Amino acid sequence: MTGSPTPQRPLVDSFGRRISYLRISVTDRCDFRCVYCMAEDMTFLPKKDVLSFEEVEAIASAFIARGTTKIRLTGGEPLVRRDIMALVRNLGGRIGNGLDELTITTNGSQLQKHAEGLFGAGVRRLNVSLDTLDEARFAQITRRGRLGDVLAGIGAAQAAGLAIKINMVAMRGVNDDEIETMMDWAHGGGMGLTLIEGMPLGEVGIDRVDTYLPLRELHDRLARRYSFTKLDKRTGGPARYVHVAETGGTLGFITPMSHNFCESCNRVRLTATGQLYLCLGQDDQVNLRDAWRNGGAAALDAALDHAMVIKPKGHDFVLDRTRAEPAVARHMSVTGG
Ligand code: SAM
Ligand code: SF4
Repeated sequence: MTGSPTPQRPLVDSFGRRISYLRISVTDRCDFRCVYCMAEDMTFLPKKDVLSFEEVEAIASAFIARGTTKIRLTGGEPLVRRDIMALVRNLGGRIGNGLDELTITTNGSQLQKHAEGLFGAGVRRLNVSLDTLDEARFAQITRRGRLGDVLAGIGAAQAAGLAIKINMVAMRGVNDDEIETMMDWAHGGGMGLTLIEGMPLGEVGIDRVDTYLPLRELHDRLARRYSFTKLDKRTGGPARYVHVAETGGTLGFITPMSHNFCESCNRVRLTATGQLYLCLGQDDQVNLRDAWRNGGAAALDAALDHAMVIKPKGHDFVLDRTRAEPAVARHMSVTGG
């Protein structure tokens, strides 16, 4: 699905990687407090520091002009930001006019309300994060959420015509006994399932070493029971996919901890305050909000050039018991998952 012409000055970093995918965190706030993502008591950004929709659109336009063909809205929970559908509609208007695709990663809690609007705005695919199908466990993991709302939201999204991929963070001793159930459920309902390794991002008040589950181990466990065929589906990200013969569905493995995927990286991440992070696992960043506010489109364009020069080669996540603090201090909800 690539219909966009090659831009005059594509974004290419100093390692020759073409950057064509922008993730935008529209808010760091969320109606859940998932144990691996946030602490119970979070200090959120002051609203005045958060980019306005006009600013988000100006930055998105600068990226589209330089060859960005895919945008994903994330957060925090993107669908809890007030009037979010206005932004979705405006960015959706760029599909076929620079953009190939606009997608969203959501916890699903607000989907019943927004499913039809998302489809109407041009969104065709959603990633919904769901780690369990057990009501009590769901409440424990999210510290807030109601499983029924999320399941009803997924139903509404499918009814509206949206394709869904379920993202599940696999945690030892928390939900690793549910992987097969989740796969049967997702594939049975026509959805993909992608398993994610927990990453050391931000202080969350629990010890991640205890729940860390290398997906290699999980892959081998599942491969004893199911027949996998490797798929050559490349997203430029850390996911690898297999087709599962018994269920007829697609299973993905996101292995940032145990498998290095950085050589094919095609993405950068914009925070809700306009910091452009060039790697999920490093601190290198460029302040696009200041560039835009102080210098307009020309300064924004120059800031993108600078970003390409400083984008790091890769991350160096390490999880070990001798290191008390997380590898990266900011939470996933700040950078955008
Ligand atoms: N609130 C939305 C959601 O949950 O889908 C979007 C933002 S959330 C930060 C994006 C993804 O990041 C979710 O799939 C979540 O499970 C994942 N995530 C958050 N913290 C993580 C961590 N420390 N390690 C691995 N995945 C994480
Ligand atoms: Fe919220 Fe998503 Fe983080 Fe859970 S993973 S706390 S839903 S931002």
